[in-house]
Amino acid sequence: MEAAKRRAWVEVDLGALRRNATALAARAAVPLLPMIKADAYGLGAVAVARALAPMGVWGFGVAAVAEAEELRTAGITERILLVSPSLPEEFPDVRRLAVTPAFGAPATLLQWIEGGGGTWHLSIDTGMNRAGVPWFQIGDIVDLVRSHPPEGAFTHFHSADRNDGSRQLQQERFREAVDALPMRPPLLHAENSPGIERQGPSAWDVARPGVFLYGVGGDEGAAVRPEPVVHLRARVVEIRDVFDGGTVSYGATWRASGTRRVATVSAGYADGYRRAFGNRGTALVHGRAAPVAGMVTMDMTMLDVTGVPCAVGDVATLLGRDGEALLDVNDVARVAELSPYELLVGLALRAPRIYTEGAS
Ligand SMILES: *Cc1c(COP(=O)(O)O)cnc(C)c1O
Repeated sequence: MEAAKRRAWVEVDLGALRRNATALAARAAVPLLPMIKADAYGLGAVAVARALAPMGVWGFGVAAVAEAEELRTAGITERILLVSPSLPEEFPDVRRLAVTPAFGAPATLLQWIEGGGGTWHLSIDTGMNRAGVPWFQIGDIVDLVRSHPPEGAFTHFHSADRNDGSRQLQQERFREAVDALPMRPPLLHAENSPGIERQGPSAWDVARPGVFLYGVGGDEGAAVRPEPVVHLRARVVEIRDVFDGGTVSYGATWRASGTRRVATVSAGYADGYRRAFGNRGTALVHGRAAPVAGMVTMDMTMLDVTGVPCAVGDVATLLGRDGEALLDVNDVARVAELSPYELLVGLALRAPRIYTEGAS
């Protein structure tokens, strides 16, 4: 789509994505297994895989067979690990697509083996109680592991972004479970993005980052910081003066005191600019801050541009960089009490993704 025809779009900076991967790989000092589930957190799994594959990743992580199918159809030949549990009825597709499944439930693993087996990873639950064999019940699966050894074994941290000791406890449980296996699987993995940021060299063989690659991380205390990757932009389509006492948008929650200049931009919650930003978010126009005025609507959002140079057709930035100014995903999410993960994943709704090699 030519720029002139775009009303709202998500710019994805693949150069920044690669630099984030390089920085994280250097810190982890092991190969990466980038998590590109949920369409690479809304950025586009195929584009992300194509950008990262030449860097020599170990493989890619997905959460659904359909996600693996999309990657294979697009010609992605790297290993694909299906980290979420799969169901026996999915096994034919898992095999056809040469996907590596993960198992923690002995009954499902038995069906995998009886159906012909194949490369798999052992999922070990060390405290999340979501998926995987509980570390203290590892004995339940030892015989199957002996008969059909996994290529890898992994666990998942529930609070790696906190310094609360839970990660150390989970690591000990993981180590204990792995030690109870008849053999050490060649590939052990555990760290997500905050796990790598906060620790440095991996304690294991590969690392599984997601969100850092997409520009989210670098909280206080983190030794590495990601570059912004995602920029949500929309055009200014109308501008008006709202006179003293006039209200803006549904519910009339915003009221002008004195005359205010209000710009309407062509993006709303159907483009992933969440309703929660109503009266709380801030956009950038020509690098200057313009607060959201009133509720975000499905297709349009109003900005208070009083004192900000602004004309119909200008580009407003709702997330990401505009010149020197930056709306960081973490900060923007926090303003509306959203998870940065949810914010990113939601951007894939309607706005088309435009891939660049540097912020435009
Ligand atoms: C999503 C996911 C990750 C990546 O987590 P981030 O916090 O985005 O780095 C790693 N491992 C598993 C099992 C996951 O589901």
